[in-house]
Amino acid sequence: MNKIMIITGGSRGIGAATALLAAERGFDVAVNYASNQAAADAVVKGIQAKGRRAFALKGDVGSEADMLKLFDACDKQLGTLTCLVNNAGVVDVKARLDQMSVARWQRMFNVNVIGSMICAREAIKRMSSKHGGKGGTIVNLSSAAARLGAGGQYVDYATAKGAIDTFTLGLAREVASEGIRVNAVRPGIIDTEIHASGGEPNRVEQSKGMVPMQRGGTAREIANAILWLASDESTYTTGAVIDSTGGR
Ligand code: NAP
Repeated sequence: MNKIMIITGGSRGIGAATALLAAERGFDVAVNYASNQAAADAVVKGIQAKGRRAFALKGDVGSEADMLKLFDACDKQLGTLTCLVNNAGVVDVKARLDQMSVARWQRMFNVNVIGSMICAREAIKRMSSKHGGKGGTIVNLSSAAARLGAGGQYVDYATAKGAIDTFTLGLAREVASEGIRVNAVRPGIIDTEIHASGGEPNRVEQSKGMVPMQRGGTAREIANAILWLASDESTYTTGAVIDSTGGR
């Protein structure tokens, strides 16, 4: 069976590292991105240089219409999906709850939670034995924030990631007998541009003292965990949420 992956937010950071590692492990990859076409194109070129097929498609994970187009394009250009990586995610600037707007919360939950639910639904329609599919894997990106709470920083983000942990557990049990495994990775502080988008470009350097290993993680280290969950090395693992946090 061909190995075919959709990765949301595959243009930069953990998503880009995962897309490239997936190609090394024999996946053809549909790379979704929000706005940075140059970064997405570079990832596609990197995948093709490894001898695999790939395309990039712009789309907001929180938009049902955009995600339907992404899954349809994957069906047509690559074939039947075998792995979904729900990676796209956003933070916002540091704030207390009493300073936050409802519009901020709606964006936080739309991108970080509903986006993953839309994509998982479309993946299940293609993978589930109940729908005539041949099975597959779903890997969700949670965060250590889900168990730390991120008080004084971004409890809205942490709450959204807590929802991802619960979603992972419940969905895993829902589709376990239909050939689909659903797992999550909870990264700690990883060296990507997400911190700059939350107004803290030096967060990794500034926070490393809080990490038992005394360093931030790399996108590649998280990609390794994602690819393990997506592989036949983890066939008895479902509903798991794996911490990859340097011990934090
Ligand atoms: P990043 O470097 O900021 O990259 C974000 C990626 O998501 C980009 O490819 C971006 O596309 C895409 N994206 C953003 N909003 C999107 C939307 N609405 N629709 C589709 N794509 C969207 O982030 P990262 O650090 O790699 O984080 C990846 C995942 O890991 C997220 O779920 C994040 O919450 C989680 N995580 C990260 C850390 C960390 O320390 N880095 C820790 C815990 C959890 P463009 O390139 O087009 O902007």
